[in-house]
Amino acid sequence: MSLIVQKFGGTSVGNIEKIRGVARRVLAAHQQGHKMVVVLSAMAGETNRLVALAQEMQKYPDPRELDVLLSTGEQVTVSLFAMAIKEAGYDAVSFLGSQVRILTDRMHTRARIKSIDTEQIRRQLDEGRIVTVAGFQGVTDEAAVTTLGRGGSDTTAVALAAALQADLCEIFTDVEGVFTADPNICTAARKIDRISYEEMLELASLGAKVLDIRSVGFAKRYKVPLHVRSTFTENEGTWVVEEEKDMESLLVSGVTYNKNEARITISKVPDQPGIASKIFTPVSKAGIVVDMIIQNTRAGEMTDMTFTVPRGDYDKTMDLLAKIAPAIGAEKVSGSVNIAKISVVGVGMRNNSGVATTMFKTLAEEGINIQMISTSEIKVSCVIEEKYTELAVRALHEAFGLDRADQ
Ligand code: ADP
Ligand code: ASP
Ligand code: MG
Repeated sequence: MSLIVQKFGGTSVGNIEKIRGVARRVLAAHQQGHKMVVVLSAMAGETNRLVALAQEMQKYPDPRELDVLLSTGEQVTVSLFAMAIKEAGYDAVSFLGSQVRILTDRMHTRARIKSIDTEQIRRQLDEGRIVTVAGFQGVTDEAAVTTLGRGGSDTTAVALAAALQADLCEIFTDVEGVFTADPNICTAARKIDRISYEEMLELASLGAKVLDIRSVGFAKRYKVPLHVRSTFTENEGTWVVEEEKDMESLLVSGVTYNKNEARITISKVPDQPGIASKIFTPVSKAGIVVDMIIQNTRAGEMTDMTFTVPRGDYDKTMDLLAKIAPAIGAEKVSGSVNIAKISVVGVGMRNNSGVATTMFKTLAEEGINIQMISTSEIKVSCVIEEKYTELAVRALHEAFGLDRADQ
């Protein structure tokens, strides 16, 4: 008998019939004698609907109240799921994040889990019930509801698996696992059977939303065996595991894209010590996370500063910079939300310098202009115009031979 945590995403619980299907799947494992803890997302589209409602009410929704609102999506699915189990003649109990004390810090809308009280869950499991827990939400030491950031139900599941020392954490979604590129835009993408935590962290941080990055962090830290698979088939998915020897031989393991960023340029900033701090300190104090930054020196005393922020923070950042720019003597602030960051990722890149040049050449051959570049030991990222995203992903996938089974 094992203790298994299973998480089902929004499309897997998108309507009553699908929730019934999830209940059947969980019951099958329960009947084999496993103790089952089930983490659910809100129904597909529900969190977006709630965000839109909040934005209709307030330009920049109050983070505390936004969390109260967003957490309702998951409350709906766990209660309906528990009803489905009972309707089938078995016993289940649902919990909200606050009820099992998924204690987080106070960073509303992107809180971090600090601890989980597993006692109630264990007791319910021992009494033979299926336990379902609302994903994506927690509670602060001041009893305020928090959410963990978009896609955060994966993190609830892995954190619960770690706290309960579960034998396995299964992430059920609408694709068959982690692929070499998003299978919904690149038909040549192949399912990866095994991937290291480290590589998965990079893929997730660069846009492969099939797993929330923080869930991978938890899995790595607590060595949680993680299996990403489809809700709609019985097929084996992708195992996220510790790095294995032969994984090194892969030069590039995946191509990702991120359409959630926006680019901002401050032109003709005086080239003096302290300017970067005058720009970025207020931005970070407003809770805005800056990603790529480049600074070009112009002839003379002026420089251009270009950086990216989450797309949802674009208006807020522009409002802030409208005040900062004149104060530091900059000429103007401009930007675009129509950008995408395309990345190639692979641990094999550590010993190979040709990846970046292949990437640049491939994009050039497709007539795609590169606006920004950043590299790390195991990834190269380029910012391009958003409308070329699909073309770029497919071209790079082919250029690195990811469509070939011998890779
Ligand atoms: P869920 O609602 O189940 O959490 P998500 O929409 O968050 O599902 O994540 C699954 C989606 O991730 C897929 O439908 C796919 O479009 C996207 N995706 C992006 N990159 C990848 C990748 N490399 N492998 C698999 N899926 C990916
Ligand atoms: N419902 C939340 C979202 O849409 C959390 C999740 O689905 O993981 O982001
Ligand atoms: Mg998700």
